[in-house]
Parts: sequence; structure tokens; C-alpha cells
Amino acid sequence: MNTMNFRNVNSTINEIRVVIFFLYVFIVLVCLVIAEIENDPTSTLPTTTLQFSPSALISSSTIRYTEKADLESIKITTFMPTLNNNSVTKITNTKNTIRYDGDQVLRVFTVNSKHRKKIKELERDGKGQKWASNTTTVDLFIKKEKIEDVKQSLTNASMDFRILVEDVQKAVDEENPPFTSEELNEFSSRKGHRLTFEHYHRLADMHGFLDYLGSTKSDFVSVHTIGQSVEGRAIKLIKISSSKPNATAFWIDGGIHAREWIASATVLYIINELVENRDNLDKEILDIDFYIIPLMNPDGYEYSHEQERLWRKNRRRSFGSFCVGTDLNRNWAYEWGGQGAGKYQCQEIYAGSGPLSEPETKSVANFIMERNSKFKAFVTFHSYGQYILYPWGHAKRLPSDSEDMDRVGRIAAAAMKQNGGATYTVGNSAALLYPAAGSSDDWAKGIAKIKYSYTIELRDTGRHGFILPASQIKISGKEAFAAIKAISKEIQS
Ligand SMILES: [Zn+2]
Repeated sequence: MNTMNFRNVNSTINEIRVVIFFLYVFIVLVCLVIAEIENDPTSTLPTTTLQFSPSALISSSTIRYTEKADLESIKITTFMPTLNNNSVTKITNTKNTIRYDGDQVLRVFTVNSKHRKKIKELERDGKGQKWASNTTTVDLFIKKEKIEDVKQSLTNASMDFRILVEDVQKAVDEENPPFTSEELNEFSSRKGHRLTFEHYHRLADMHGFLDYLGSTKSDFVSVHTIGQSVEGRAIKLIKISSSKPNATAFWIDGGIHAREWIASATVLYIINELVENRDNLDKEILDIDFYIIPLMNPDGYEYSHEQERLWRKNRRRSFGSFCVGTDLNRNWAYEWGGQGAGKYQCQEIYAGSGPLSEPETKSVANFIMERNSKFKAFVTFHSYGQYILYPWGHAKRLPSDSEDMDRVGRIAAAAMKQNGGATYTVGNSAALLYPAAGSSDDWAKGIAKIKYSYTIELRDTGRHGFILPASQIKISGKEAFAAIKAISKEIQS
């Protein structure tokens, strides 16, 4: 090739580079405008949601998902203005609720590494999403159109499985009955709040209940907004005070994962017992200052009520990603980004852009660190599986005082059972389930130095999974409160 040809080739390459550069700038600008308008609550532009199938996304993406990826929730919002009487009008419903008709949850038995590899393969290919797992089983959520394919490949791999949830949409439709007319009448005649333990309530009802307790029991109850979520919702904490100086403190939270509705409902039940049934409490419990957040992830929770029942993360949007959300239970500043934490925002276990990058975790961490020497116990409620878990979660190793945590955990589990509750398994979270770095109980133990730090995975063991009927709120609350009382007595002795 002569010099002339080289020049031509070079200039063509340069032209291509310039075109690619401008294309890139254009795409980035479009993304920015979309993100801006989507974030703006006053925006009146109509939106529509385009959904892509997981397999299409995976094949068109250079990212390889090694962990479970929340591909179903990947959305691109576009703007489709149409002229109607010279004005822009809505052409699609902004509340585009995701349905789960015919989708199933399978329990797959994974007794060897080949089986576990097969599960990873199915997840990677976008054929199933992990709901829960332990050392011998994996619960997989499968879209209707993939069910036959998945069942066939499990059979081909000689893997046993059974159906846990026959039709996820049916379970969703049945889990949270609407308020009856009697209840609505009662709410209007009630002076303070709308909360019940027969329904899963929205954030406004939960906060209404906390505020009601704060105003009617102001001699020992106070309500504090300790921060705001990504979308600006209040993160409310209730302090139930012993009214004693230098009292031992106990931290309780729930609802860090949006779809685990039973966690927040259970924590609200505990709050009600500690405040409204105070006369029944023993001295050891009255002498403790309780700091409680019933709902740590208000944005994700509201979104899970309105649009996507199975949403897990918060609602963080980031520059350069169409996917939304950080897993708030991988975002804590202890062994952040280690095993079981995701690097990519499209993953369900995305750990965030850095340790405590999210306002929901940061505000709690700040609050606890300002008074961490007082705290002797930390309990965070999740679902599901019926486990009482203690650190470490980031790796299969134990803190030096794990025997103390194990002993008190077993006392709590026995108390749950004695109070008519279910059977809860006690153990180290990484060993019993799987490693998950950046969780709040590891942070509470490792950084805040709170001795008794637990994650309690509430009901059930898989029959309903995340879609636990509201009729189980009371029994869940009762058994969880038995655990809290048992732990309280142990930290006071
Ligand atoms: Zn959880």
C-alpha cells in the first residue's frame, strides 16, 4: 500500500472516530434528559415503559452477569408526546404495574457443585431469578414463558425440583386484602392513625402510626426523621425511652429490602407492643432504650406497592445506567464489595458506587455511630426462611465471640417456639446460607461494635416466600416480639 492509501485509510478512521464520538455524546445527552425528567416529580410529560426480555438484554450486552441479575426490571423510558387540542397528552399509563400471571417459583435441590453450576447458568441466561438459597436448595422465580424450558433442563441435569408457588400473580392478588367498609368507617372515627395488623400498609399509614404514638405518648416516645431517601421520603425512627440515664440501647429495623413486606409489618407490631402494651412488660425491657426504624427503604417499598411487587433495592438512578437501584444490604461499610456483592447496577445485589453511598444506609450509620457505645443489640428483620443469623456474612468465618451470639440466638429461637411461633434455625449467615458482603449486621458487629448483631429472616420457609399473606402478620409479630424480649433479657443480665 502506498503513502496515499495510508493517508486515506487514516482519515477514514478519524472520520469514523468523530462520528462515534458524536453518537456517544448524543446518547449520553438523551440519557441525561430522560433521567432528569424521570426524577422530576412535577414533570407532566407522559411516559411509557418498554420491557426487554432478559435473554435479549444479555445477548446485546457486553456485561456478563455472574451474580443474580434483576433483568426483568430493566426499563427504558421514552417520551411519546402526541398532539391533542394543541397540548401534550398522556398516551400510556405511568403506573405500568408489572404482572406475574403464570409465573412460578420452583424449589430446586442442589446437592453438588454441578447442580449449583447449573443454577448459575440458568440465572446467567436470564431464565430464573434466585429468591432464596441455602446449602442444599435454591428457590427460583421463573417467568411463565421460560417454565417448560427450565423444567426440561433441570430434568436433563437429573436435578430434583418442586413447585413452591404455582402462580405468582394469584399469590400477589390474594396476599393483601383491601380494607373492608367497616375498617374504613373505623379509620374515619379513629382519632389518630389507620394502622392495622391485618393488612400491609403504605408508608403514609406507617408514619401516621409513629407520629400518633409520638404525640399521644410523648413522655417516653419520640419520633425523629434521621434522613431522607434517594427520592426524598422521610426515614423515620421511633425512640421508645426507658427514661433512665445511660440506659442500654437496642436497635431494630425492617424493610431494607422493598419486597419483604412482612419485615416492616412485624417491626410495627413490636413497636405497638412496646408502647401500647407497656404495662405487660418486664423490668429488663422497660429499662432499655429502643431505637426502631420500621421501614428503611421507603422508595423501594412504595414502588413495590405501586408497580413492581418483587422489587428489592432502593430507587437510585445513576449516570450511564438504565438500571435502577442499589441493594441497601450490600452497601454497608464493612468488607464492602466482597463476596456476594454485585458490581453492576443491573444486578439485584448491586453494592452501590461506594460504601454507604446511599442516603438510606448513610443516615442510619451516622445515627448509630453517634451513640454506638450504648447499643448492645442490633436486629434487622428480613424475609424469608425462618433463620436467626449472626455474622460474619462476608465470609465463612466467625467472630471471636460467636459462641455468645449463638447462645442468645438459640434462646431467642426457643422463645419464639414457646410463644406458639414457628421453628427458626440459628447459625452463621455465610455458613448457613451464602456469603454476602456489605450487610448491615456485619457493619453493626464490625464497625459499630454492637455485640449481639442479628439478621432475622421471618416467615415462611417457601410456601409463599416474599408474598406472605397479611393474615400472618400477627403470628409473625408475636413470635418476633418473643425473640426481642428474650434478647433484651440476655443483654441486661
Ligand atoms: Zn432481605
